[in-house]
Amino acid sequence: PGVAALVASRVVDVPDFPKPGILFKDLTPLFADGPVFRQVIDVIIAHHGGRGGFDVVVGVEARGFVIAAALAYASGVGVVPVRKAGKLPRVAHSATYDLEYGTATLEISEGAFTPGQRVLVVDDVLATGGTAEATLDLVARAGGVVCGFTVLMELAFLAGRDRLPGCDVHALMTV
Ligand code: IMP
Repeated sequence: PGVAALVASRVVDVPDFPKPGILFKDLTPLFADGPVFRQVIDVIIAHHGGRGGFDVVVGVEARGFVIAAALAYASGVGVVPVRKAGKLPRVAHSATYDLEYGTATLEISEGAFTPGQRVLVVDDVLATGGTAEATLDLVARAGGVVCGFTVLMELAFLAGRDRLPGCDVHALMTV
């Protein structure tokens, strides 16, 4: 099967999580399936030019860390975490964005990149795009050059990619 079908086969739809009316896509079963997880990682690397196609991987807390670490190990590069506010001991840059109710803040550490490093950004799901937009902003302010953004699943009806103009937005499957 193609990778989209593989991903689809390992997603569990959870109604009314974390709030009534939200259909949450739970991708943890994909992480738990060794052969599928490995294939997903290999497909992402190939899409971004194979080994040598990027210099460092950024993962967004928390499920993005799982994907980022596997991509980095398989490609022989490092990982930089983008974390929720208050977790990093040496914050260099913060980005705050709007949620349906309230705001959220993401942070990146001092010295995250050497200037001009080519950065592959990963997360599990692209929904409204607020998280991704803030993350790309942090990477740019920290001196990295975003060369791609990959998610396992894109919720296209929320049009998140419209907030990421000029970025190579790659989704393994689209809903
Ligand atoms: P956005 O900022 O609205 O695009 O939401 C994306 C962020 O929220 C990502 O970090 C995802 O991990 C998380 N997220 C939003 N919806 C879902 C979902 O249905 N399943 C898993 N994660 C989600």
